[in-house]
Amino acid sequence: MTKIRLHNSRTRRKEEFRPLEKKNVRMYVCGPTVYDRAHLGNARPVVVFDILFRLLREVFGADYVTYARNFTDIDDKINARSVATGRTISSITEETITWYLEDMRALSALNPNLMPRATLYVLQMIEMSKDLIEKGHAYVEQGHVLFDVNSCPDYGVLSGRALEDMIAGARVEIAPYKRNPLDFVLWKPSIDETPGWDSPWGFGRPGWHIECSAMVQEHFGENFDIHGGGNDLIFPHHENEIAQSKCANPGSTFAQFWIHNEMLQVEGKKMSKSLGNFFTVRDLLNDGTPGEVVRFVLLSTHYGKPMDWTQKKAREATLTLLKWHKMVKNASPALLDDEILQCVANDLNTPGALARMHELAKAGSVDLLLRAGQFLGLFSPNEHWWLPEEPDSEAKVKIEALLVSRNKAKVDGNFLKADLIRTQLKDAGVEVVDDAGGLSRAIFTDAFDPGKIK
Ligand SMILES: [Zn+2]
Repeated sequence: MTKIRLHNSRTRRKEEFRPLEKKNVRMYVCGPTVYDRAHLGNARPVVVFDILFRLLREVFGADYVTYARNFTDIDDKINARSVATGRTISSITEETITWYLEDMRALSALNPNLMPRATLYVLQMIEMSKDLIEKGHAYVEQGHVLFDVNSCPDYGVLSGRALEDMIAGARVEIAPYKRNPLDFVLWKPSIDETPGWDSPWGFGRPGWHIECSAMVQEHFGENFDIHGGGNDLIFPHHENEIAQSKCANPGSTFAQFWIHNEMLQVEGKKMSKSLGNFFTVRDLLNDGTPGEVVRFVLLSTHYGKPMDWTQKKAREATLTLLKWHKMVKNASPALLDDEILQCVANDLNTPGALARMHELAKAGSVDLLLRAGQFLGLFSPNEHWWLPEEPDSEAKVKIEALLVSRNKAKVDGNFLKADLIRTQLKDAGVEVVDDAGGLSRAIFTDAFDPGKIK
């Protein structure tokens, strides 16, 4: 069996991954808070953990791997969006979840097996909070339930020595009801229009961290294999998840492996609305960047390194994929190339896997190239962007020239010639439509064959 090695943030070492149960491999990744379109930075963990999911399925068998990624549909950002727009919370979260799944599908990310929504697990969150109070790890103050970090000797185990720096960076909220500034909310009161549920501590809603702990416990129990997310979640979110879950289940280890991806920048700068370099995945797709190209660029940097999105990389990825698509057009997938598998199994070395694909392409091993691409989530049969709508394709140039001569023939009254050109294009799978101004446009049908364009 292929050995998988992963960098475990918990031990800060690359370690061999061995699941607790070979026939029940469990991975949980923190999903989005659903109030807006996913930006490109949000897409990075989706693609990173999609690769890990595909690797686990390849090595352990698709039936034995469960990938859970939640939707945080209780959050103050969602409440704020609701107040600002006058829309109901559920209409905002439903719409955003639909968008998210569409956009991530465009990047060829497989859907996780489980996509639990926080609103459906409030009872479990209340139970876990009660349990933590009973065990002396949480206290009630002014309608809030707070986790008592002093009761948890391990607190800070994940972020380690850098904890003080992280506290400074994370703007820990100081509140009069907290015994220690690091204590965090398990439950807080809801007033006015904020959504809430009845609880032993009054009408209120859960804090963010307890959402993940409760959903993990419900689906995976006390101990499971992999917990993932962006490295911006290490403190306080993941630190707090560990504290809650391990204190609620004494003697448990919670996740064996913690995998964190580095952040994404755009043209060397942090993506931000104020810098004007902020864009969503949908913006990119709408601007004509194929999802497959976005995925390729994301795979070209190792997940443990900061990723820089540049237009140049997107252009290069487009050219590479155009070339590869042409090569694999009539290929039939071979067995998975072992070097590709070894690359990905070595701490998800996707840049190495892409380099190997270049070698396979150079050697003309089209069957291996096809299978390797499919393993990495490229060459989706639903992707047609690479067909000659591309500006640099030869066929497109020829079709343009044919349309120009057809327009000229029509203006000259040479309808016989105009019809001949239409028939010729039709035979090659291209429909010609004339717009209201009389100009012709080409529509590519499924039968399109660039070889038949003369
Ligand atoms: Zn989480």
